[in-house]
This record gives sequence, structure tokens and C-alpha cells, in this order.
Amino acid sequence: MQLMLYVLDLHLWRGFENICCLETLLGKQTRSKVALSNVPLKPGRSLMDWIRLTKSGKDLTGLKGRLIEVTEDELSKHNKKEDCWICIRGFVYNVTPYMEYHPGGEDELMKAAGTDGTDLFDQVHRWVNYESMLKECLVGRMAVKPIAAPKVLAEISSTVSEDKKQLNGVLPEKKVLASSSKDLSPSYDWFQTDSLIKIVIYTKQKDMNAELVIVDCQDKQLRGEIIMDDHSYLVEVDLDHAVSEDVAVNIAEKVGKVEIILNKKDNIHWKMLGQPREGHNTFIKRTDRGLFFRKCKLVSKTEVTHDTKLFCLMLPKGTHLCVPTGQHVYLKQIIAGTEVVKPYTPVLPFLPLDFQEPPRHDSVHMYLMIKIYSHGLFTQALDYLQIGDYISVSNPEGNFKKSQVQTSEDLLLLAGGTGFTPMVKLLNFALTEVSCLRTVKLIFFNKTEDDILWRSQLEQLALKDERFEVQFILSQPSKDWVGKQGKISSCLLSEFVKRSRRDSKVLICICGPAPFTEQGVQYLKDLGYSQEEIHAFTA
Ligand code: FAD
Ligand code: NAD
Repeated sequence: MQLMLYVLDLHLWRGFENICCLETLLGKQTRSKVALSNVPLKPGRSLMDWIRLTKSGKDLTGLKGRLIEVTEDELSKHNKKEDCWICIRGFVYNVTPYMEYHPGGEDELMKAAGTDGTDLFDQVHRWVNYESMLKECLVGRMAVKPIAAPKVLAEISSTVSEDKKQLNGVLPEKKVLASSSKDLSPSYDWFQTDSLIKIVIYTKQKDMNAELVIVDCQDKQLRGEIIMDDHSYLVEVDLDHAVSEDVAVNIAEKVGKVEIILNKKDNIHWKMLGQPREGHNTFIKRTDRGLFFRKCKLVSKTEVTHDTKLFCLMLPKGTHLCVPTGQHVYLKQIIAGTEVVKPYTPVLPFLPLDFQEPPRHDSVHMYLMIKIYSHGLFTQALDYLQIGDYISVSNPEGNFKKSQVQTSEDLLLLAGGTGFTPMVKLLNFALTEVSCLRTVKLIFFNKTEDDILWRSQLEQLALKDERFEVQFILSQPSKDWVGKQGKISSCLLSEFVKRSRRDSKVLICICGPAPFTEQGVQYLKDLGYSQEEIHAFTA
């Protein structure tokens, strides 16, 4: 999955001459040894060009619109560049016409030629809506379904005994203990009063917190997801009766109990919670869970620089979602009839200057700082959105862990352009909540002075907090610029990246254009920093 984002952006870089090896770039976080393509796409082979081709009415499968049943034997015959079929989740696509448009290059696609490419796809493309992208390439279904569908559990009503349907606070302690000794996966129960429905999830995990609980309740559908390391537990039901829009979430952090409280629209007795949906009561790897999107309203759009805007989105009333520091979300728009998904990293509405207390969490709004590219497919459409319009926003993802900062004494942030976005919450978290931090330094690479995001806020922060220092480095400065100039280099890094003490514990976070991050990681390693001391933000 991490790979795809690079891949998607890389194909649009004209003159892309770097061979980006993801393994080098991501170091120990890399899950697979897949090298990025160094072959730029030919002109006329962008995502938009692909969308146009799919709308042209051309027969892309060669089957004249027929759908067929494909045997494994048949699939394996279509394993050449000029005749390539791939199976994803039981559906077979003729990807031959897509070859030249694949951002990762033809060779990447060929790895799955004539086979079931589901695992490979999930590793690198999980967030891409292939059904929408490849719908004109659909050949048919596999005759023998290669992947078992997720287990759907029995109806909820049958799992709830009559005596537990009345709201009585919590389950008897001994029941929780008894079940936890047998099974470490979470479980849930539900209760009711005349006016409320309370769903209680026993995560059996200490240190539950609001960022690990994502709830969406809309139109009689309830989805409550609990994130537990790389796993996710889901309660997902079509509710038996209507509830009002607002949802409350209570978390007993120490015992890992999560309560989702819904308000009944009518004071009637519910015989059951509702009908389970596909993912209900499953505890599976996060990467195996499809991305969930909810529609958020654009409430404001303000200029940050000449080309970058701060978008404020309002979450629906029935949504409880706090994006953790260092994580991103995906935005989804339908562009020319095709779903296009891109990642963005939520920021704060501004840089708080008073770091005495942790900021109060605004659970209703999400702020995104987004650069609008003059030929950008997604950002142009985004900029077109009017106040009051809606856009789909996914659950958060990302592999940054706050614990990486919590033990650091020196924090160094290397940002290139909008690679500044993950640094915003990180900076705030570090200065507010990490007591052992002695120094925080942001080295911010931009093209020109006009491109520097939140420059005056950063300068004010540096004046206000003596632990914080900011250094701006420009790659295309005007002749009036008296500050540092250049691109990321060993020389620049050795000047600015230093430990405050010889043996101090350091964390260096880096984010920006892929070559910037790739080169930065390499220079840091050459300077003697270990893999554990470097975190590269990627998708
Ligand atoms: P694209 O269409 O991908 O175009 C990118 C560039 O190529 C632009 O310069 C465009 O002008 C040029 N281009 C496009 N088509 C052509 C063509 N045919 N010929 C010549 N040039 C062309 N970005 C942010 O602004 N804020 C964030 O918070 C943020 N967070 C991110 C988090 C992650 C994890 C990742 C991986 C990326 C993040 N990004 C962020 C980048 C974002 O996901 C998009 O890549 C970015 O917004 C560009 O999307 P686009 O579709 O508008 O541009
Ligand atoms: P930009 O083109 O304005 O460049 C900003 C600076 O980055 C430049 O001044 C230069 O110092 C450096 N840089 C640019 N290209 C370079 C290269 N080829 N080699 C070395 N250094 C280079 O940046 P932008 O348009 O704001 O783009 C920001 C990038 O950050 C995007 O590619 C975006 O996808 C990425 N981003 C990633 C994440 C993430 O992975 N979590 C989050 C936000 C942004």
C-alpha cells in the first residue's frame, strides 16, 4: 500500500530520473521488496487519459461486453504483456490495455499476470478503487472463487440473551474475565433503556483512547471500529430502529471498555440491535479491512500561500473520528465518472503558541492544508468545491507511532513543501506532551519565500518557545534572499542535524517529495544515524 502512493505521484513527474527503491526509502518499515519503476509513463498515459479511454466506448476486454466464467487454467494462459489477465478478489480483469497507464510500470503489473494478484494488490494498492478504475476491463468471475469471503457471524439477536437487553451499566465482571481468559479478541454486548441504546465493546486492551475508536452512525447504519495495533475489531449493523443523528462515545481507558451511546428516535423496546453487516464482529488485520469513507461538509477554505489552502471539513454528527498524529486520511472524489482517491494529512487550524496545556481536541472539524497544482487532477477538482459541498473522507492510516517521540530528547523535522503537514501535529504534540524533549528543530525546504507555509507562525513559535528552532532553506530563492539556499544535501544536513548532547536520543522525521525523502534518508544514514532514529512519512 505504501508503494502505490509513490507510484501514483511518480508517474506524473516529468524527467523522473531516480530509481526509487522503496526498500531503501522505507527501511525496516518496508513490507515487500518491490522496487519502484524508473520508467516514466509516455505522454498521453496519465490517469486522466485512462479515464478518457474507459469512457470512449472502446471494447477493452475483447469480449464485446460479454462476461465469462474463467477457470484457473484459462487465467494462466493470459500471462503476456500483449494478453494479460489478472484476478482480484475473484474477479478477472483484462489489464492489457491498462499496461501503459499503470503508474508502477508494466513490469509491476506483469508480476500478477495470469494469476490471482489479490495479495500483491493489497500490499501496494489497497486504497485504490480498482473496481471503478478497471470496470471496463472486467472479463468475468473466477469459476472457482480463490478467496473465502469474510466469515459472517450469526444474527446479533441470537447472540444476545434476553436478560442482557435491559440497560444495566456493565456486564457482570466474571463474564468478562471468563471470556477474556478463553479468547483475547474483543467482544461486544448491547443494552437499552427507554431512550438509549448502549453498545459496549470490551477490547480487553489497556490504554484505549479516543484515537483508536472510530464510530459512524447514519441512516440506521452503525459502524464502530476499534484499532488495536495492526488489527481492527468491527461492530457493523443495520439498526433495528431509527436513532437520532448524534452519537456519544465513552472510553474507560484503563479497562479498555468502549461505550457507543445512541439516542432512540422513538421510545420503543428493541427486540434486537439489528442485522449484522458483512464485517460485523470480526477482528482482522487492518490492511484486510476495506477503507471506509463518510461524507464531510466543506465549511471553509482559506488561503495559506499563493497556491496552498486550508480546507476545513465538518464531520457528520454521527461520526467520532480523531486522526492520530502522523497519520493521513484519503479523500475521494468522482472525477469524470471515476472514483479517484488521494492521501492528505490533517493539520491543526493554526500552530498553538501556548504549549502549557495539551490543546482541547476539536472532534467536529478536520483541517487539511492542500497545495493546488495547476494541472493536478485531484486538487483542481478539490479547489472547485464550494462551501457547503461534500467530500468523502476515509479512516486514518499511517505507521507513525507517538511512542517514537515520547522518549526522544532531540526532535528534528525535515520538511519539503507540503511535507510540512505531518510536522504540524507532531510539533504540537512534542512541545506539549513530551517532557524529556530538549530541542525541536524544523528544517523547512521550499522553492521560494512565497511558498513557505505558516512562516510567521513558525517564527513566532521559535521566539516563544526556546526549545524550538526553525531554518528555512530555499531551492529557487530570489536575489534578495539572505537565508540558506540549496536542496537537501549531506553538507546542509551535517550543518543542521545535530544532537544536543553527544549521546542524546534523537528522532529525525522526514517528509516531502519522494526524491527529497529518499535522498534525505540516505544522507542521514551516511551521517551515521540509525534506521531507528529516522522516520520517513510515506503513504
Ligand atoms: P497530480 O495530478 O498527481 O499532479 C501532480 C503534479 O504533476 C502537479 O505538479 C501537476 O501540475 C503535474 N501534472 C499532472 N498531470 C500532468 C501532465 N499531464 N503533464 C504535466 N504535468 C502534469 N498534499 C497536500 O497538499 N497536503 C497534504 O496534506 C498531503 N498529504 C499527503 C500524504 C501522503 C501520505 C501522501 C503520499 C501525499 C500527500 N499529499 C499531500 C500529496 C497528495 O496526495 C497529492 O499527490 C497531491 O495533492 C497532488 O494531487 P493532484 O491529483 O492534484 O496532482
Ligand atoms: P515542492 O516541489 O514545492 O518542493 C519543495 C522542496 O522540496 C524544494 O524546494 C526542494 O528543496 C525539495 N525537492 C523538491 N523536489 C526535489 C527533488 N527532486 N530532489 C530533492 N529535493 C527536492 O514540493 P511540493 O509541491 O509542496 O510537494 C510536496 C510533496 O510532499 C508531494 O510530493 C507530496 O506527495 C509529499 N507529501 C507527502 C506526505 C506523506 O508522505 N505523508 C505528506 C505531505 C506531502
